[in-house]
Amino acid sequence: MRAEKTERGIPLSETLAVIAGKLSAQTIRLLGLGLASNLPGKVSRKINPAVLSHLAAQAREGVVAVSGTNGKSTTAGLLASILHHAGKKLVHNRQGANLVAGITACVVDSASWSGSIDADYCLFEIDEAALPLVAKEIKIDSVLVTNLFRDQLDRFGELDTTAKLISKGIDQNHSNAVLNADDPNVAQMVPGSRRVFYGIKSLSPNEQSALESVALEASASSKNSELSYCASCGEEYSYTIVFYGQLGHYACRKCANKRPEPGIYAENVSVKAGASSFDLVYANQKLEISLPLPGMFNVYNALAAAALAVELAIPAEAVKSGLCEYSTLFGRSEKLSLGGKHLLIQLIKNPAGASQAVSAAAADPDAKFLIAINDNYADGRDVSWLWDADFELLSSCPGPFVVSGNRCNDMAVRLKYAGVDPSKITVESELSAAIDAGLALCKKDSDTLWLMPTYTCLLELQKIMKTRGCPLSGT
Ligand SMILES: [Zn+2]
Repeated sequence: MRAEKTERGIPLSETLAVIAGKLSAQTIRLLGLGLASNLPGKVSRKINPAVLSHLAAQAREGVVAVSGTNGKSTTAGLLASILHHAGKKLVHNRQGANLVAGITACVVDSASWSGSIDADYCLFEIDEAALPLVAKEIKIDSVLVTNLFRDQLDRFGELDTTAKLISKGIDQNHSNAVLNADDPNVAQMVPGSRRVFYGIKSLSPNEQSALESVALEASASSKNSELSYCASCGEEYSYTIVFYGQLGHYACRKCANKRPEPGIYAENVSVKAGASSFDLVYANQKLEISLPLPGMFNVYNALAAAALAVELAIPAEAVKSGLCEYSTLFGRSEKLSLGGKHLLIQLIKNPAGASQAVSAAAADPDAKFLIAINDNYADGRDVSWLWDADFELLSSCPGPFVVSGNRCNDMAVRLKYAGVDPSKITVESELSAAIDAGLALCKKDSDTLWLMPTYTCLLELQKIMKTRGCPLSGT
């Protein structure tokens, strides 16, 4: 059967798919029913299942993807910032809807009513399990993988399964792979592909001694490290340095398998309460980066974004300004001021990410804490992961601490077992009241309320902050 075509040769069903998707998005936004980040994609795909494939193929310089357990949104956001500084036009699913329907909705939203895309790159954050599905529809030129931690076991099963899904997505189009050399779960992937590695080479002398003292505590509790094994012979890796989790410099005890030498790396890394600095080294460049984001995990996110940007031949000036002038995404190390008081919001959703957020907060001597835990479907129903996150780091912080969300009591118990003095913990299940309690703890100008919510607590926080005239980004 011959499909009817419009004047420009675009199949009529595709134009209709775009129009229907855009109309449904407009309707959803007009009625205040949300950000329209998924449903319009479903509508468009119903009318023409190839709509994503045809629209994305119009990007002039190609399609790049970011996947992995933690840091997808921030890494894609940092890369978007670099590409904007290089004058590139993007289609980017910055709302974080990272399944097939969400990615379709984003592309349809960016298209003209007649179904054309005016962009240099499509930049997609893609869920690990969705990557092979998206890769079937779109030729992805490069896939960046941030890290692989245990995450929501009920959804993904074993780490191996996740690694296989990502590898399948990369193999589908023979994409270039941009991989974290310091994460053995990632560095061992897709040995047959063209691979580019990034990693941390060295810390600043101060950071090194701080890390060594933390590592001593961590090895005592063994909370901070995840075992990883050689892909060739199955032997446990030995490390000369661990930055966090299983990320570090490793080698097999039995065979020649070891951390690959990264072509782009950070040295002299220094992490402070709300920011970090490092030298970014690649080819014959050395860029001094000061990153307006807390924590070692964000150094990795910046390094990952830079690695992919360099792969795309983006000039050094754009890489540097894109990282140094980055403004945060919704709930990811996002800084806000409310009534002259400072808040830093860091989404937590699994042990590795929560440990990193806690470690960044613990480094701030003026930190006050609000931890909000829900167990709705999008958070993961099982909150036992709280016991695998390194809340022990908070035992030496002056606090005080507020806990909230529908599992606030579990969180209070967790803090007590982590060694936090129970008299410093306030339990307030209502998030709005908990925010007031947290802000009341901030008395000096240097005080910051570190607010660590699970996903649905973050959505609730978004509504609360909007009504208080202090909206989060993207809202
Ligand atoms: Zn081995």
